[in-house]
Formats: sequence, structure tokens, C-alpha cells
Amino acid sequence: MTSKASDFIRDIIDADLESGKRTEVRTRFPPEPNGYLHIGHAKSICLNFGLAQQYGGTCNLRFDDTNPAKEDQEYVDSICADVRWLGFDFGSEALFASDYFEKFYEIAVSLIKRGKAYVCSLNEEEIRAYRGSLKDAGKDSPHRTRTVDENLDLFGRMRAGEFEDGAHVLRAKIDMRASNMKMRDPLLYRIRHQPHHRTGDTWCIYPMYDFAHPLEDAIEGITHSICTLEFENNRPLYDWVVANSGLSNVPEQIEFARLGLDYTVMSKRKLLQLVEQGHVSGWDDPRMLTISGMRRRGYRPEAIVRFCDLIGVSKNNSTVDMGKLEYAVRDDLNPIAPRVMAVLRPIRLTITNYEEGKSESLTVPFFPPDIGKPGEREVLFGKNLYIEATDFEEEPSKGFRRMAPGRWIRLRYGYCVRCDEAVKDEAGNVTEVRCTFDDSTLGGSAPEGEKVWGIIHWVNAADARSAEVRIYDRLFKSANPDAGGNFLDYLNVDSLETLKAFVEPGVLGEGVGPRFQFERQGYFIPDSVDSRPDALIFNRVIGLKDSWAKRDVEEPAKPIEHTKSARSVTRPKSRSKAEIRAAARERNRKLAERFARYQDVGLSEGDADVLSGSIAWGDRLEALATAGVSWELGAKWLLNEHPRDDDEPIPFASEASEFLAVIEASESRISTAAARALWTELAKERGSAEERIRSQGLEQVSDDASIQPIVDKVVADNPGKVEAYKGGKHALMGFFVGQVMRASQGKANAEKVKELLATALN
Ligand code: ATP
Ligand code: MG
Repeated sequence: MTSKASDFIRDIIDADLESGKRTEVRTRFPPEPNGYLHIGHAKSICLNFGLAQQYGGTCNLRFDDTNPAKEDQEYVDSICADVRWLGFDFGSEALFASDYFEKFYEIAVSLIKRGKAYVCSLNEEEIRAYRGSLKDAGKDSPHRTRTVDENLDLFGRMRAGEFEDGAHVLRAKIDMRASNMKMRDPLLYRIRHQPHHRTGDTWCIYPMYDFAHPLEDAIEGITHSICTLEFENNRPLYDWVVANSGLSNVPEQIEFARLGLDYTVMSKRKLLQLVEQGHVSGWDDPRMLTISGMRRRGYRPEAIVRFCDLIGVSKNNSTVDMGKLEYAVRDDLNPIAPRVMAVLRPIRLTITNYEEGKSESLTVPFFPPDIGKPGEREVLFGKNLYIEATDFEEEPSKGFRRMAPGRWIRLRYGYCVRCDEAVKDEAGNVTEVRCTFDDSTLGGSAPEGEKVWGIIHWVNAADARSAEVRIYDRLFKSANPDAGGNFLDYLNVDSLETLKAFVEPGVLGEGVGPRFQFERQGYFIPDSVDSRPDALIFNRVIGLKDSWAKRDVEEPAKPIEHTKSARSVTRPKSRSKAEIRAAARERNRKLAERFARYQDVGLSEGDADVLSGSIAWGDRLEALATAGVSWELGAKWLLNEHPRDDDEPIPFASEASEFLAVIEASESRISTAAARALWTELAKERGSAEERIRSQGLEQVSDDASIQPIVDKVVADNPGKVEAYKGGKHALMGFFVGQVMRASQGKANAEKVKELLATALN
């Protein structure tokens, strides 16, 4: 095991063990089974399982499956497989919060008996109003004084299924005037007549996260319950639940900063959107930073674990450079990937003075001397070879050091050849170079009195294997696809390039691979889904160098039309979503009617298609329209921002219309990014937009005095880019804006930032 650098969590644990507060370390990784795991989860997995390994403790994999609506067995299976693949052991099986439902219920009953919980029959809107705001204390619910017997009776009947969803909730009786709003009689249980993927129809009341999570930890004997920073405010409630549960184990909640990575999106909802809308081929598309995507791409678990070690844990949210992950992948593969030759963009090379039909077998090593690993293979050399089109220039540009007419170059491991002529097709593309070889140059010596320009790789035509090669690039063009607007606008439409290549037969050798370095090209692995021995398909795991470090255009010049171009990079599989929606309309007249009507009110055919493709989607739009939102605005926010898997279309409408009214009334009041986050939050938790903007301090900062120092710092920190900008690379403005926005935690007014930057850079 690698030795881990210390960090604030390890410091806490060390102190706990030293003082005798704890005698062991028990952690858990608690995913909700509502999506596939991604690189951010890997950070949490490495941290929790890593602590258990380091301190000789245990780490549970426990599914937090308390919300039946969004959860699925498919996700449970993928999560178990991903954790195992990363190399972590969670004992013989995973644990499930749903296994404790009976226990949770007992504890709730005991809280009621001790006067610490009550059944409240206010509706959601009333509960919210009674809760007050950051400024104003809350008011007691009129049901707060119900007797124990009354509460026991009602709660029992809630469980028995006597009431509809929303009729009653169980609440903790804490303090409606607490300064921490989470402590104002939080909800413990709600009624949900919805089958659960594991408990079926057994339950129609489900515990809230804030109640269930601490109990799960206490029941399992967890000592350190590590979660991300956004749960900091929930900690007093976490402690209250444990303290009043009657359970003897008292776990401690510790928060750390979640991983953010540039050039990617990390929210499960957005990943789902990429999958469902066909921007990628699935959760395991090699461009996705899901664990399954990275696995198929060819990353090894060792690289991911090393990356997580590299970035460490802290208390400050920050965005990590994608280059770090790519570095970890390269660094991991360099010592283990055998080198072979492959030509990705082939042209023919014919050696005119080499004997027809002859071939020579060359013994060449799999690894260069600096790796110092044994292993070699036979490579045939003959009259007809393939080389890279990019290794030849008919009229060599300045700085081009490889093949051109009249020049000698060395064929890697083989002879030196001189190019005599280039053969072109009708379109003027070079298809073949004709060369002469010098038979005294095998093994190192240069031709008498000649300069050798460089060494290039090649593949022998007679025994080359043809292969499809998929070159992947970052899925997003912009460092921060969450910066504003629709994240899909920042998709990199060139993120997949498919080539017809030739590879040497060495890749099929016994006991080598599956990952290889194709010399001068990068690291490659056969695609685990599509490649077959008779039809090879290789994925490029990663290039040899960081090609992004040099790129200075960080933002797309103009937003990409994602509905058309981004889709064309992936091939549709079986039945597309569009076909499924069309079929739904054929079966259901209501949907067909909506499709027509939505176009009548001015929506594009594409938007009308999605919104009339299922009852739920249309219902959401209708609810918004009923609440007074224009069709266009409602459609825009639903399509771009609404969680794909949300199950509560209608009650959200009034919040949404208030929210949209606030946003539309003053566009610059909060940033687009904050607005989008707020929409998602309201969809999940409800609440007043106005209140949240105030309580979360989301108002944009627009005054020069606050923004100028940040602008100055960004300009001072990036002298190279400033120079490039002044030299005419105006596309860099996006980069500068992004940096300032990030430094201001998204609060600076982007227009203002642009204005001040324009002055600072000119
Ligand atoms: P999302 O908000 O996208 O739905 P989530 O955080 O709610 O994701 P969970 O399944 O609840 O997803 O996450 C399981 C665990 O992984 C949690 O403990 C959570 O804190 C942690 N986790 C999720 N995302 C990250 C991240 N980006 N960095 C570090 N830890 C993360
Ligand atoms: Mg979560």
C-alpha cells in the first residue's frame, strides 16, 4: 500500500485513536442507487476504503435506498461491480438502508412515545410558510401539540396505507425558532405510495435522508461518517437523530470538499441526460468519466486510485485540472504497456530496390531500455510497408524533420530509405511514397555521407492486421461546461475520431496486452464491447503528451447546435429515444395532440417532440403553463435543466413559476449557473426562490470595487495568456472570464467581468 500523506480527516482520526475516543475506524461509502458511479465517487471510495485499509478498520458499501422513485437494481449491480473493480473489498455483500426500515420505524415510534416527534398534517406549502426564513423565526405547527396517543394512532395508520401521499408527515419536535433552519422540526417520514426496488409494496411511508442516514451509520457501528461539504448544515440534525435514537454507537460526521474536474460535468442528472439524449453511446461510453466509461476506455484502477491520492482531501471546494487525471493514466501505463507499431493514417511505402517476395524477420524489444523490462517479438520487414501520412511532406515546411523527396530517414528497427517520388490519387492526395534502401544500414549505421532526418514507425503490408482505431478526446471543449447556459453547448463535437489503421500482428501475441503503447501515438486497448479477434477495434486510452496544455482556445467560438452536430458523432443503437417517443404518440392520442399543440404555440418541432414523448414530460409543461409560465420559457427550463428522473411534476409548478418570475424580472440578479442550480434544488426540495436567493447569498456581485481585485489577480497570474490575447488571440477572453468567475465562486456579474477584463487587457 502506498503511504498516504496526512490530511485533516486523518488528523481527526489520529487524535480520536490517541485520546481513546475511538478504538477502531469504521467508515462507509453510501451511494444512492440512482445512477452510475463517476470519478467524484471514486474520490469518496478511495477515501473511505483507503482509511479502513490504512487503520486496519472496515468500510461498508451501503446503498442509501430510501427514495423508491429513482432507484433501480441496474444501478446497484453496476455500483458493486465498480467498487470491486477499483480494488476495494466490502466484505461478502453490500448493505442496504432498506434492510433497516423496520428498525427506523421502531425508532420513530419511540421518538413519538417520548414526545420528540409528531404527525403534522399541514400541506407542503404550509409547512414551508411555517418554517420561516433565515431572518424570521418559524411558527409552531398547529399539530405540534397532538397527544402521544393521537400521534401513535396517526403514524400507525400512515404505515397501514390509510392516507394519500402528502396527507401527513412525521416531524421531529425540535425548535421552530432555531437559527439553523434544518432544526426547525424537520421531516422524518413522508407518505409515498410507490413500490421500492427491494421492499416492493411493504412500505408506503419512507424515511427522509436526514433521519435515515445517521441511523444507518449508528446501526452499523460507523465511527467516522464522511460526507461532502454541502451537508455541513445538516450536522446538528445528524447528531440530534443519533442522540435521540437510543442507539449506543455515536458516529461523527466529517465533511470534505467534493471533487470537481474541469472539462467535464459530474452531476448524475447531466450524465443521465448525455446518455438519454444520445450524445454518448451509454453510461460506459469511453468519453464519460463514469467508472464504467473509464474502464472501457482502458484506464486501470491503479491510475484512478493514484489520481485520488494525488489530489488529496481538503475543506475547500476547487476544480482539479483534467491534466492531472490524464497524467496519472499515462504514468500508470508507461511502465506496463508493451510497445508495438501501428499506422493510424496509412499511406504505402514501396522500396523499389528491395527484392520482391523477400522478407526479413527482425527481433525487437517490447520495452525501451529505460523501462528495463524483458520481452521481445518478431517483426517482418519487406518491400511493401505502410507509414503515417503525416510523416511525409512533399514540400516540407520549416521545422518538418521527417520524410520528404530526396531525404533519408530510418525505418524504426530497420533500414534507412531515401524517398524518390510520391504517387498521388486523382484528388492530389499522396497515397504512396517510392523509396530506395541502403542494405548496409540495418542496425544503426547511416548511409555513407548522408544525413538521416529522423526515425519513423511502419507496419509491414504483407502481415499487417487492419483495425479500427477510435481516438477519443475530451467530451467538452470548455474548461467549465457548467459556467452558464446549456452545458450541451460546450460539447466537443470532435471528441471521437474513427480511423482505419494497420497494426503489427504482435498485438495478438499470447500473454501480452491488452494495453499497448503504439509507438509515437499513445496507449491503446481493444474495445471490450465491440472488438473481435477477426475485427479488431482499439480505443485510444490516452495520447503520449498532453495535447490540451498547448491549446489556448478554451471556449467554443459559438455555441454548438447540439441537437444536430453533437449527435452525429455517435451512432444510434437499436431503437432511438426519438423512435420511442414517436411510438408513444402513436399509441396515445393525448400525446399526439400535445405534439401538434406545442408546435402551434411556437415550440420547435424538436422540443415539442421531447415534451410530448411521455405523459410525465408533457404534464410538467402543462403544469407550468397553468401556473402562468409562457410555453417557450417553460419548455426552455424543462428541457435544459429539469432532472430527467424527477417524479413530481405538478406540485413543483408554483415554485417554478415564482422562480421564473424572479429570474426573468431581473436577469442579472443571480448568475445563470446559480439559477440553474437553484432550479434543480427547488425541484428536489421546493421552497421560495426569493428566500433561497437571500439565504444562500446568491445575489450577483456587480460593483467594480469587488470584482477589480479578482480581475487584477487573474491577469497577473497568467502573463503568457495575457500576451497571447494582446497578440490577437481574442478567443482567450472566455478563459479569463472563466477564471474570474471561478475565483468569485460564480457570484460576479459576467457582463461586468467582461467589461473590466476588456479594460485590463487592452
Ligand atoms: P449527485 O448529486 O450527482 O446525485 P450524489 O453525491 O448525490 O451525486 P450519491 O450516490 O449520494 O450521489 O453519492 C455517494 C457518495 O459519494 C456520497 O457520500 C457523496 O458525498 C460522494 N460523492 C458524490 N459525488 C462526489 C464528488 N464529486 N466528490 C467526492 N465525493 C462525492
Ligand atoms: Mg447524494
